[in-house]
Amino acid sequence: SVVIQECHVQNTAREYAKLYAAEAEPLEGFGEVPEIIPIFLIHRPANNIPYATVEEELVGEFVKYSVKDGKEVNFLRRDSEAGQKCCTFQHWVYEKTNGNLLVTDLQGVGMKLTDVGIATLAKGYKGFKGNCSFSFIEQFKALHQCNEYCEMLGLKSLRTTHQKQRKATSMKCKNLPNSSTVKKMVPKKAREPRDLISSEH
Ligand SMILES: [Zn+2]
Repeated sequence: SVVIQECHVQNTAREYAKLYAAEAEPLEGFGEVPEIIPIFLIHRPANNIPYATVEEELVGEFVKYSVKDGKEVNFLRRDSEAGQKCCTFQHWVYEKTNGNLLVTDLQGVGMKLTDVGIATLAKGYKGFKGNCSFSFIEQFKALHQCNEYCEMLGLKSLRTTHQKQRKATSMKCKNLPNSSTVKKMVPKKAREPRDLISSEH
């Protein structure tokens, strides 16, 4: 069932986030680390839809820190502390799993995240199969730009030397748009369902 898989994905991502926190939190100046909230599966045998999930309700502005297609420009992702730490978390997981696993769809309120996704190779990684396509990993690799938190953790840049040189020259005169006017908030109710790769397909 998709519900069971969703729980499994979120709780697996939560475990990676805990490992990330354990490494990042002691670093001087790193500060608060994003947390993926737990999600619980409940079984109601008398109900038509026997499986349901229960999780803490997040109150506040719901923000998508990473987007599923990796192409949409999300300024909160890039500019906010939580957004940057989410990107660093993605990079950290990517590096720890040797590029085999990526936590995607990082979204939530402040440092509390929910409804995340995981991309792996079709065969999975260490017995775990993600619910998002491997192409997410390739997109992440192509689009991720390291930030100060990546540097604090000593993560290796995903760019090749050649790309880095090209970027250095082309970025020189670029004016970044004012993010405060284009911040995009997505209320929880209006979110689109994730493209799940379920066994029913
Ligand atoms: Zn990075």
